Amino acid sequence: MTQLHDGTTRGPIPDGFVRNVSKEDFQEALGAIFMPTDQWSNTFTPLVVNNGSRLVLIDSGFSNNGAPTTGNLVANMRAAGIDPNAINTVVISHFHPDHINGLRTKEGAAVYPNAEIMVPAAEWAFWMDDARMSAAPDAMKPLFNVIRRVFAPMAKDVKQYEWGKELVPGITAVDAKGHTPGHTAITIASGNARLLYVADTTNNPLLFARNPEWRLMFDMDGDQAIATRKRLLDMAAADRIQVSFYHAIFPATGFISKTASGYDFVPAFWS
Ligand SMILES: [Zn+2]
Repeated sequence: MTQLHDGTTRGPIPDGFVRNVSKEDFQEALGAIFMPTDQWSNTFTPLVVNNGSRLVLIDSGFSNNGAPTTGNLVANMRAAGIDPNAINTVVISHFHPDHINGLRTKEGAAVYPNAEIMVPAAEWAFWMDDARMSAAPDAMKPLFNVIRRVFAPMAKDVKQYEWGKELVPGITAVDAKGHTPGHTAITIASGNARLLYVADTTNNPLLFARNPEWRLMFDMDGDQAIATRKRLLDMAAADRIQVSFYHAIFPATGFISKTASGYDFVPAFWS
């Protein structure tokens, strides 16, 4: 497995960013982990899995559709010796722009022209429903439009997958709904070893695993997101399995231990 960095973003902390925590308390938590307290910084980390016969990319970053500090996935992939044209499968965890925009450049070209694209069936059913798009509040319409920009040209070839199914040998989809209706975690297994890619089950785990009841504004169903977060992090802690986060500090992988009030993220040791 190879974690690859697509980039970072920085910007003002939106009002209501964590719905059940004051901006002051959130800023204090940022300071406690030595992050700037006057802005929100995010980081984006897709994962490539080589299962011996197939190269599988999980989530895709922004390509050239995001901030100038993002869109580095393909360059970093090449630097790691992986040819984007050799990617056989792209597995998407959910349809937020930072996970899907990297499938297609701003100019419309497919970034992984030889890859089969696999998406959660529950996510497809929710976001590709035109009636739901028309009924959505104006603030959500741009999101529906991004999803159509990416998927409409390839809709007939996209493979929808169900939770609990093995997508390619060793790679299995896990129900992680809450962040979005079809949000999916992925387990990667090899012999007795297992890694859990949790996608956006938490944003930065130093904040949101540590405070599992925080309701990030991007969590569409807050109660369900909290229940999913606790279920997956409890499992990771109990089974001592390695975890990969899309929004943790690069290389975004490590372990989870349970604390009195939440979970600690312990970076993996590399030697
Ligand atoms: Zn995300």
